[in-house]
Amino acid sequence: MLVEDVLNTIDSDTRPFWEATKRRELLIQYCPTCNTHQFYPRIVCKNCLSDVEWTTSKGKGTLYSFSEVQKVFNPDFKEKVPFIVAMVELDEGPRMLTNLVGAEIEDVKIGMKVQVDFSESFGEYNLVQFRPV
Ligand SMILES: [Zn+2]
Repeated sequence: MLVEDVLNTIDSDTRPFWEATKRRELLIQYCPTCNTHQFYPRIVCKNCLSDVEWTTSKGKGTLYSFSEVQKVFNPDFKEKVPFIVAMVELDEGPRMLTNLVGAEIEDVKIGMKVQVDFSESFGEYNLVQFRPV
Protein backbone atom coordinates (compact mmCIF):
# COMPACT_ATOMS: atom_id res chain seq x y z
CA MET A 1 0.00 0.00 0.00
CA LEU A 2 2.61 2.54 1.05
CA VAL A 3 4.98 1.56 -1.75
CA GLU A 4 2.21 1.95 -4.31
CA ASP A 5 1.33 5.36 -2.88
CA VAL A 6 4.94 6.52 -3.23
CA LEU A 7 5.33 5.11 -6.72
CA ASN A 8 2.15 6.88 -7.77
CA THR A 9 3.73 10.23 -6.86
CA ILE A 10 6.59 9.79 -9.36
CA ASP A 11 6.06 12.23 -12.19
CA SER A 12 8.18 13.84 -14.89
CA ASP A 13 9.69 16.29 -12.38
CA THR A 14 10.92 13.60 -9.99
CA ARG A 15 11.47 10.60 -12.29
CA PRO A 16 15.23 11.25 -12.89
CA PHE A 17 15.78 11.30 -9.11
CA TRP A 18 14.00 7.97 -8.63
CA GLU A 19 15.59 6.31 -11.66
CA ALA A 20 19.04 7.25 -10.29
CA THR A 21 18.28 5.47 -7.01
CA LYS A 22 18.27 2.21 -8.99
CA ARG A 23 21.96 2.95 -9.77
CA ARG A 24 22.56 4.01 -6.15
CA GLU A 25 23.12 7.59 -7.22
CA LEU A 26 21.73 10.68 -5.52
CA LEU A 27 20.66 13.23 -8.11
CA ILE A 28 20.04 16.86 -7.23
CA GLN A 29 19.51 19.84 -9.48
CA TYR A 30 22.04 22.49 -10.41
CA CYS A 31 21.41 25.96 -11.79
CA PRO A 32 24.32 27.13 -13.98
CA THR A 33 22.88 30.65 -14.11
CA CYS A 34 23.20 31.39 -10.38
CA ASN A 35 25.58 28.52 -9.49
CA THR A 36 23.36 26.89 -6.85
CA HIS A 37 22.05 23.41 -6.19
CA GLN A 38 18.52 22.61 -5.13
CA PHE A 39 16.50 19.76 -3.69
CA TYR A 40 13.62 18.78 -3.93
CA PRO A 41 13.23 18.66 -7.72
CA ARG A 42 11.51 21.62 -9.37
CA ILE A 43 10.95 22.53 -13.00
CA VAL A 44 13.05 25.70 -12.65
CA CYS A 45 15.60 27.23 -10.25
CA LYS A 46 13.94 28.41 -7.03
CA ASN A 47 16.28 31.43 -6.89
CA CYS A 48 16.26 32.81 -10.43
CA LEU A 49 13.66 30.75 -12.33
CA SER A 50 16.27 29.63 -14.89
CA ASP A 51 16.43 26.13 -16.31
CA VAL A 52 18.16 23.60 -14.09
CA GLU A 53 20.14 20.47 -14.88
CA TRP A 54 20.54 17.22 -12.99
CA THR A 55 23.85 16.46 -11.32
CA THR A 56 25.09 13.62 -9.12
CA SER A 57 25.59 14.63 -5.50
CA LYS A 58 28.70 13.40 -3.71
CA GLY A 59 26.23 12.03 -1.16
CA LYS A 60 28.04 13.62 1.77
CA GLY A 61 26.63 16.07 4.25
CA THR A 62 26.08 17.20 7.81
CA LEU A 63 23.25 16.36 10.17
CA TYR A 64 21.29 19.61 10.50
CA SER A 65 18.49 18.31 12.76
CA PHE A 66 16.85 15.04 13.78
CA SER A 67 14.06 13.40 15.75
CA GLU A 68 13.36 9.84 16.79
CA VAL A 69 9.94 8.48 15.85
CA GLN A 70 8.75 6.12 18.61
CA LYS A 71 5.01 5.98 18.03
CA VAL A 72 3.35 4.11 15.16
CA PHE A 73 1.16 6.58 13.26
CA ASN A 74 0.84 4.41 10.15
CA PRO A 75 0.63 0.59 10.32
CA ASP A 76 3.02 0.36 7.35
CA PHE A 77 5.77 1.66 9.66
CA LYS A 78 5.14 -0.62 12.66
CA GLU A 79 8.19 -2.79 11.90
CA LYS A 80 10.44 0.26 11.61
CA VAL A 81 9.72 2.03 14.90
CA PRO A 82 11.81 3.47 16.42
CA PHE A 83 13.53 5.24 13.54
CA ILE A 84 15.36 8.53 13.12
CA VAL A 85 14.01 11.25 10.84
CA ALA A 86 16.83 13.59 9.85
CA MET A 87 17.36 16.87 8.07
CA VAL A 88 20.68 16.53 6.25
CA GLU A 89 22.51 19.46 4.72
CA LEU A 90 24.35 18.20 1.65
CA ASP A 91 27.87 19.46 1.00
CA GLU A 92 26.43 21.01 -2.19
CA GLY A 93 24.06 23.11 -0.05
CA PRO A 94 20.49 21.79 -0.20
CA ARG A 95 18.84 20.22 2.84
CA MET A 96 17.01 16.89 2.55
CA LEU A 97 14.41 15.37 4.83
CA THR A 98 15.49 11.76 5.11
CA ASN A 99 16.13 8.93 7.56
CA LEU A 100 19.33 8.30 9.50
CA VAL A 101 20.26 4.63 9.70
CA GLY A 102 23.15 2.73 11.26
CA ALA A 103 23.18 4.78 14.45
CA GLU A 104 21.74 4.54 17.94
CA ILE A 105 19.85 7.64 19.03
CA GLU A 106 22.27 8.32 21.93
CA ASP A 107 25.16 8.56 19.46
CA VAL A 108 23.43 10.97 17.09
CA LYS A 109 24.67 14.57 17.26
CA ILE A 110 23.75 17.65 15.24
CA GLY A 111 26.74 18.54 13.09
CA MET A 112 27.92 14.97 12.63
CA LYS A 113 29.12 13.99 9.15
CA VAL A 114 26.86 11.63 7.22
CA GLN A 115 26.86 9.91 3.86
CA VAL A 116 24.14 8.55 1.63
CA ASP A 117 22.96 4.97 2.12
CA PHE A 118 20.97 2.95 -0.44
CA SER A 119 20.69 -0.27 1.56
CA GLU A 120 16.89 -0.32 1.69
CA SER A 121 14.75 -0.74 -1.38
CA PHE A 122 11.09 -0.61 -2.23
CA GLY A 123 9.90 -1.99 -5.49
CA GLU A 124 12.70 -1.49 -7.98
CA TYR A 125 13.90 1.73 -6.33
CA ASN A 126 16.32 2.31 -3.47
CA LEU A 127 15.56 4.64 -0.59
CA VAL A 128 17.84 7.63 -0.14
CA GLN A 129 18.84 7.45 3.52
CA PHE A 130 21.96 8.57 5.37
CA ARG A 131 24.33 6.98 7.86
CA PRO A 132 27.17 8.35 9.98
CA VAL A 133 30.55 8.51 8.23
ZN1 LIG B 1 19.33 29.94 -10.51
